[in-house]
Amino acid sequence: MTARSGTIAQISGLLAIAFTLSLIAGIAGSAALIAATVLIGVATPFVAYFCDINPVRWWILPTVLSVTFCVALVVLATTRHIGAFTWALPALLFAVIAIASLLSKMAKRRCALCHRRLGPHAITFDCPRCGLEVCDESCWNFEHRRCRMCEENHVPILPAQSQWWDRQLGPRVHQGRCQLCMASPEQADLRICSHCHRPQCRDCWDQANGECSRCGWTMPNLPKSLETVAVHLPAHLEQ
Ligand SMILES: [Zn+2]
Ligand SMILES: [Zn+2]
Ligand SMILES: [Zn+2]
Ligand SMILES: [Zn+2]
Repeated sequence: MTARSGTIAQISGLLAIAFTLSLIAGIAGSAALIAATVLIGVATPFVAYFCDINPVRWWILPTVLSVTFCVALVVLATTRHIGAFTWALPALLFAVIAIASLLSKMAKRRCALCHRRLGPHAITFDCPRCGLEVCDESCWNFEHRRCRMCEENHVPILPAQSQWWDRQLGPRVHQGRCQLCMASPEQADLRICSHCHRPQCRDCWDQANGECSRCGWTMPNLPKSLETVAVHLPAHLEQ
């Protein structure tokens, strides 16, 4: 059985249980039907989580369950009288599933590095070098604008091709030393700053996010991820 057919089988099983439960509750009365709506709504995201049902769009699960619920109501309506308010229950079911899914998703949010749980007020950063979403408390380096792991491992961000560096800062120079690490032209690929004309080696340009350590000039055409570090603010600060 493929993963896709497995998921379809699991969703079908979930729908069959929800359908049966709605029918039984509908026969038992209005109060039982409301209770069943809330129960199915709250339980669905947890059942989906444990069965590894992960639809591509958030609205798929609430929609298919609400439609199933509607079908159960139509079946009930053909055999007995059901109150007019009952027809509002599928919308309630949709809302409960959507809210419960959102809450369980927020509860599962974790920092990609230290794995601590991120509350609704957590501020996170997308590291421009490795792309991981990390917490601001212990995994983001504000000064160097990268995550702890990229800082420790000196993960580069600027391209390795010489042609890119030629276009950015002109050809490699063979005089002087890197103004940061003091590497000689034999030890490192030195490129001069377009503003103050002092040499800096490629590693130091990379480590300084494309900035000259002397005059603060920043080279143009840097990778997009470096120009705009994505910050995820808590919802209440996002406007
Ligand atoms: Zn962290
Ligand atoms: Zn990183
Ligand atoms: Zn250097
Ligand atoms: Zn400079």
